Amino acid sequence: MLVNATDMLNKAREGKYAVGHFNINNLEWAKSILLTAQEMNAPVILGVSEGAGKYMGGFKVVADMVKALTDSMEITVPVALHLDHGTYEGCYKCIKAGFSSIMFDGSHYPIAENVEKTKELVAITKALGMSLEAEVGAIGGEEDGVIGAGECADPDECKAIADLGVNMLAAGIGNIHGKYPANWKGLSFETLEAVKAKVGNMPLVLHGGTGIPADMIKKAISLGVSKINVNTECQLSFADATRKYIEAGKDLEGKGFDPRKLLAPGAEAIKATVKEKMELFGSVGKAND
Ligand SMILES: [Zn+2]
Repeated sequence: MLVNATDMLNKAREGKYAVGHFNINNLEWAKSILLTAQEMNAPVILGVSEGAGKYMGGFKVVADMVKALTDSMEITVPVALHLDHGTYEGCYKCIKAGFSSIMFDGSHYPIAENVEKTKELVAITKALGMSLEAEVGAIGGEEDGVIGAGECADPDECKAIADLGVNMLAAGIGNIHGKYPANWKGLSFETLEAVKAKVGNMPLVLHGGTGIPADMIKKAISLGVSKINVNTECQLSFADATRKYIEAGKDLEGKGFDPRKLLAPGAEAIKATVKEKMELFGSVGKAND
C-alpha cells in the first residue's frame, strides 16, 4: 500500500535525516529502488516526471505497477508515489490515477497565480489524504544546451506558499538539475537559513541531488532539508554498467542478449547508487520510526 509523504518527512525533519526521492523510468527502476529501500529498512519516495509517466504508458500504469510491486514483493517500508514537477493538469491526472503525493511546480507562474493554483490543490490533496509539494524559485538546469545557474528563492514568497498548507516546499538555493558545471558556486546556505526562518517546521526539499558534495548535503539536512531528489545519478550508473556489459561482449556470449541478463548489471548499479544515497541521507533503518 502506498502512503503519502507527510509523516515520513515530518519524522525526517525531527530526526535530522532526509528521505530519498528517486525518479523511476520503468519496471527495473521501480523494482531496484523498492528492493533497496526494503533491504535498507528505509522510507522511500518514488518520483515520476510527466515525461516518464508518458513513457511508461500513462500515470495509471505507473500507479498500478508500483502498487502491485509493493504487494507482490512484500515491501513493508513506507513508499510514497510522487509526481515530480507536475503541471496543473498533470496533478489532476495523478490524483485520478492513484498517486499518493504530488508536486505542483508553479514556479514559472507569477507568484499570485502560483498561490491561487496551489491553494486549490491543497484543498483537494488534503481531502484525499495525499501530500503536496510546492516550488518557489526555479531550480536551474540544462535547457537548450545552456546551463542556467540555480535561482535563489525569495523567503517571503516561500512563506506565502508554505502558509497555504502544503506539506513540503522546494526552494531554489542555487541547486541545479543534471550534472553541475565546473564553475558552480555551491548551495546558498544563507538562502536556506532565511527560508527556514520564515517557514518554520515545513519539510524542505532539495532538488538536483546528483553531484552535490556530501558535506553540503549533510549541512542542508541539518538546516531543515528532509527530502532529496535523485534522478541523474541513477541514470548515469545504469548507463555505465550497461555499457560495460556490452563493451565486454557479454551480450554475445551464450544467451547474454536476454533482456533479463542485459539489464541486470544496470539494475544492480541502481541499487548500489540508491543504497549509497540512503546512507548519506541518514534514512537507513528509519522505516519504523
Ligand atoms: Zn526537480
